[in-house]
Amino acid sequence: MSHEQERPHPHPGAAALGNARASGSPAGEGVGSGIDWSAVRADFPLLTREVHGKPLIYLDSANTGQKPAAVIEATDDFYRHHNANVSRAVHALGTEATDAYEGARNKLARFFNVRSDELVLCSGTTFALNLVAYSWALPQLGPGDAIVLTRMEHHANIVPWQLVAQRTGATIKVADIDERGELDLDALYAQLTPEVKLLSLTHVSNVLGTVNPVREICREARRRGIVTVIDGSQAAPHRPLDIAAIGCDFYALTGHKMDGPTGTGLLWARREHLAAMPPFLGGGEMIKEVRFDGTVYNDAPHKFEAGTPNIAGFIGLGAAVDYLSGLGMANIDAREQALLAHATEALSKVDGLRIFGSAREKAAVISFLIEGAHAHDLATLLDLEGVAIRSGHHCAHPLMQHFGVPATCRASFAYYNTFDEIDAFVAALLKVRNLLL
Ligand code: PLP
Repeated sequence: MSHEQERPHPHPGAAALGNARASGSPAGEGVGSGIDWSAVRADFPLLTREVHGKPLIYLDSANTGQKPAAVIEATDDFYRHHNANVSRAVHALGTEATDAYEGARNKLARFFNVRSDELVLCSGTTFALNLVAYSWALPQLGPGDAIVLTRMEHHANIVPWQLVAQRTGATIKVADIDERGELDLDALYAQLTPEVKLLSLTHVSNVLGTVNPVREICREARRRGIVTVIDGSQAAPHRPLDIAAIGCDFYALTGHKMDGPTGTGLLWARREHLAAMPPFLGGGEMIKEVRFDGTVYNDAPHKFEAGTPNIAGFIGLGAAVDYLSGLGMANIDAREQALLAHATEALSKVDGLRIFGSAREKAAVISFLIEGAHAHDLATLLDLEGVAIRSGHHCAHPLMQHFGVPATCRASFAYYNTFDEIDAFVAALLKVRNLLL
């Protein structure tokens, strides 16, 4: 693919920020990377607050990431000094806003190793997947066609395809998982029969943490002429991500999980798809000329960006990308893997605790239940101890049905968490378990 040669690899290794923070870290907090993770943590103002009179232990980053000061300051600076709409005004503020917004698109393109004119900026994964459903799938699919999904999808990667299936007469097939929470790849490939036109799956499961081998899966699908869509919501925040190398057709992700502002995200798509797809929403910005006898649409990606975008949000997301690049995604990945190993070992010693998902390649997410205790009760009592975990179905009803449970607890870790926080979380869990049982 041509753009594989056009861009340098986006993650050249530990960068200035990491180096600036080397050494002097407490035991366990700087291991391996040379990064002082306590100094990194100090970049997150919210993490210093208390909840119910206890220090906050935030273990819900798979839900949304906390924001470093650099992100908060970038959005604040835009509203204080540059606020104007993009692509409309010739005055200085308009130019500054447009440059900053398009600058953020360029940063995102470099970060994910793709071309900026293949990046549609939107409100998040949900929007991005719906855009593919309505603009690509709806005109392409018909009766007799099939869409393949997996058992571990978030509702955002199920319901848009159900809407498409209802309107086109296409059917949906579901690829299953084994007891570890990994995809059964042989079974999946056997399902990729000639009527399958589209395969949409998550890169990383938000419930099980399973990292799917998307590169290999996309290669198999492509050999069969099947279009692939990857939901990268839980991959982008945690690991070096070279979208061009995956070989998919579409890649969707959300900005708020990678420590950027809410209401930001993107869809990457191959240029040929973007050129052929009709617009999803109509309005300002997405046109070249409007006449009552016909409208000429703008080129991609602007063709898919009707209306005023989340300008400050994307400037903040650009700052988030700078911040993550400064730490180095490989360092973030290693740090989170160490936190995951520590937490898994500690939780495995808790009587009656069952962990859902033990994939060989796993992101820093642990879903669990304690026999005899309801997930919401555990999460509510933990909250009183200052520990924020999520409980519920995690927008993955079909996965809950697979395990035969209505809900689980989920602790998810980010690089700004500490080993001490994990120990405090497990101690609090033992305490609340004893209250409940
Ligand atoms: N897909 C996965 C795997 C997710 O974890 C999430 C968010 O929890 C989404 C999609 C939806 O993301 P958003 O709500 O930002 O559109």
